[in-house]
Amino acid sequence: MTRFIFITGGVVSSLGKGLTSAALGALLQARGYKVRLRKLDPYLNVDPGTMSPTQHGEVFVTDDGAETDLDLGHYERYTGVAARQSDNVTTGRIYSTVIAKERRGDYLGGTVQVIPHVTDAIKEFVQKDITDEDFILVEIGGTVGDIESLPFLEAIRQLGNELGPERSMFMHLTLVPFISAAGELKTKPTQHSVKELLGLGIQPQVLVCRMERPLPPSDRRKIALFCNVKPEAVIAALDVDSIYAVPMAYHAEGLDVQVCKHFDLLTDQEPDLSRWREIVRRIREPEGQVTIAIVGKYVQLKDAYKSLSEALVHGGIANNVKVNLDWIDSEIFEREDAVKYLEHVHGILVPGGFGERGAEGKIRAAQFARERNVPYFGICFGMQMAVIEAARNAAGIADASSTEFGPTPNALVGLMTEWTRGNEVQTRDAGSDKGGTMRLGAYPCVLTPHSQVAEIYGQSSISERHRHRYEVNINFKQRLEKTGMKFSGMSPDGVLPEIIEYPNHPWFIGVQFHPELKSKPFAPHPLFTSFIGAALEQSRLV
Ligand code: GLN
Repeated sequence: MTRFIFITGGVVSSLGKGLTSAALGALLQARGYKVRLRKLDPYLNVDPGTMSPTQHGEVFVTDDGAETDLDLGHYERYTGVAARQSDNVTTGRIYSTVIAKERRGDYLGGTVQVIPHVTDAIKEFVQKDITDEDFILVEIGGTVGDIESLPFLEAIRQLGNELGPERSMFMHLTLVPFISAAGELKTKPTQHSVKELLGLGIQPQVLVCRMERPLPPSDRRKIALFCNVKPEAVIAALDVDSIYAVPMAYHAEGLDVQVCKHFDLLTDQEPDLSRWREIVRRIREPEGQVTIAIVGKYVQLKDAYKSLSEALVHGGIANNVKVNLDWIDSEIFEREDAVKYLEHVHGILVPGGFGERGAEGKIRAAQFARERNVPYFGICFGMQMAVIEAARNAAGIADASSTEFGPTPNALVGLMTEWTRGNEVQTRDAGSDKGGTMRLGAYPCVLTPHSQVAEIYGQSSISERHRHRYEVNINFKQRLEKTGMKFSGMSPDGVLPEIIEYPNHPWFIGVQFHPELKSKPFAPHPLFTSFIGAALEQSRLV
């Protein structure tokens, strides 16, 4: 029997609803249940793919090629369950489906309305593509009280009624602020937020209250009384030192027990949290530290590189070291010498990116790493820039560039207009829509035997997730290889370069895909483990 837990948020945004949902998923999993997490996003974009990373944070790409909300990254990192297209929907996508149906005449002359047509489409989405999961956790984006989330809240209210309490539960995340002038925690915002939910017909059974100070019993009773929940179902969620300590903190507060009790499930056995204990122990007791420079364009919003910074933490967990991140805006290197920013770091990472702004600075960072034997990890755009750097400074192609920056006679990186996915040929051109038209999702890659990456992966063939429009131009392979660069990973048809490395450099690897999307704290990605290992070596030299 599949049960649904609907997770809403109130009072303010940024309370960590995604993390809370992910942590509850991990706790239920630790109790032996099969879980899947989903997110309903109330904005009008069909998916976050067209949004700037500085507005909405990272776009998380799934194996099946969906561009999704970054919370799906948290879900995967906490549960290890690969997210799918069917785990994230937006108002924009729901409306496109409803409007397409209307145009086809599927509504047989009826007036098409938010209720029931839009809410039906939401309910259908929530219940689709489920097999033998014990729990589906459904997070509703935004904050209760927003106009745009109303159809979603109405849809989950109806679902709660249709499924009944034995198959559904509502959990609400709120803020209990500490007012220093009064020296007290304040429960009123939580009371108001729950009142707002009640006004929409939703009675939460569990309240997760974010707070900076411990919750006095009298405040717990007050929240319970005014919000119609049991005192033990008021979960005090205090800040913790690592996001990976959240599952244990919630367990200590009884969150999983409250959920199980609601569904009449046995709680006499403790969940197996050994994996989380070990992760947190390694984070809290590192045996050393390394500093990695991330040279990118969206460094002012850390959420723009969420999976990346987590994957670096995972690399640290694997090596038992703390990883300090030095975020550097690549444009700085277009005005100032890179040396003073980079000479003390133990590794340089140039992440994914789009557009010409800041590209020259990334090329400088790659040059610094190559010439000075500093570990370099180029991801997607970071690989493309490393290739342009080698072409310009080692192969003598002075005007080497990417067609992403405009027409160029020496397109080391060019727009890809045709490629194969499975047995299907996909085509694009410069005039295609921007949304959903990149090379997206999991693609296979064949590794060159005995190359560094083959050693690192311990495999000859891998599958990694992609999100890009441009590709390194295979026609320059020979000239680049003369500089010492090796093409060590290729698409199975041998046409698309997927990985480059320098065998005579301590660690210089560029990948056309996004390995950070598949890294987990309990299964750090091999490339990140190896990169942090190389940085640790480097730290012994400088
Ligand atoms: N802008 C580049 C492309 O589209 C790289 C994209 C990326 O780094 N994800 O190919």
